[in-house]
Amino acid sequence: MPRWIDAKLVKTTERSDTTRSFFLELQGIESFEFKAGQFITLDLPIGEKRLDRWRSYSIANEPNQSNLIELVIVKVPFGKATTYLWEKCQIGDVFKLKGPGGVFCLPEKIEHDLVFICTGTGVAPFRSMIKDIHRQGKQTKNIHLIFGTRNRNGILYAEEFKKLQNELENFDYSVALSREEYEGYQGYVHNLYLEKYKEEDKNRRFYLCGWQNMVDEAKEKLLARGYEKAQIIEELYG
Ligand SMILES: Cc1cc2nc3c(=O)[nH]c(=O)nc-3n(C[C@H](O)[C@H](O)[C@H](O)COP(=O)(O)OP(=O)(O)OC[C@H]3O[C@@H](n4cnc5c(N)ncnc54)[C@H](O)[C@@H]3O)c2cc1C
Repeated sequence: MPRWIDAKLVKTTERSDTTRSFFLELQGIESFEFKAGQFITLDLPIGEKRLDRWRSYSIANEPNQSNLIELVIVKVPFGKATTYLWEKCQIGDVFKLKGPGGVFCLPEKIEHDLVFICTGTGVAPFRSMIKDIHRQGKQTKNIHLIFGTRNRNGILYAEEFKKLQNELENFDYSVALSREEYEGYQGYVHNLYLEKYKEEDKNRRFYLCGWQNMVDEAKEKLLARGYEKAQIIEELYG
């Protein structure tokens, strides 16, 4: 059973007009142990009942034997937690944090080609996984990160992923913009992977992360292409 830990907000970084990274320093521990892809749960002062106060966030950094974690969070219009995080919370505030939790992780030995599909902050667990692979110099098959958002301003960690593309032999990175002309790919994220991975292949695994509409649509489209349920692994944000 994960225990509650005090976590101090030590820094924030703007990632887009609506997205911000929150850096939390976990108190009383030297190294926070988690697997790339896992999440933590924050207890925020936004309600009376405990379930009203709890919100989960994927850890966006890789396991690195430190007590600092990064969460990348999008502001939801009228959202209780995110309004609090944007408008009330300040550097130095301490929250209760529980974790790590979740099983949205890669197997120890990576034996399949991996396609990571996400929109917006759904990129968080994939950033953790890719940076973990890079840090450990892990052997992998092909890995393709497909990131979708509306416009250029919403592209998260672009420079970092472009750099990783040069440094990691089997890593490919694509961006789809749905509402702005783009030299990369203009359109919905779904069109990008459906074009690229037309032919069903048993050696491929799709990892999906984000909000229900995107994840459901992707699953439906992949199943219709002949991929099997076991080839599709998902993390739902809500
Ligand atoms: C395992 C897990 C990991 C998560 N990781 C992240 C993460 O890394 N980054 C992150 O930003 N969020 C993440 N979330 C979502 C997060 O827990 C909150 O749900 C989110 O921050 C909204 O909280 P809120 O209190 O501001 O909104 P609420 O007041 O709880 O919700 C407002 C309404 O908006 C809907 N909604 C919330 N966000 C969106 C959205 N972006 N698009 C469409 N509808 C939405 C909700 O379903 C709800 O109906 C994760 C959720 C889970 C379960």
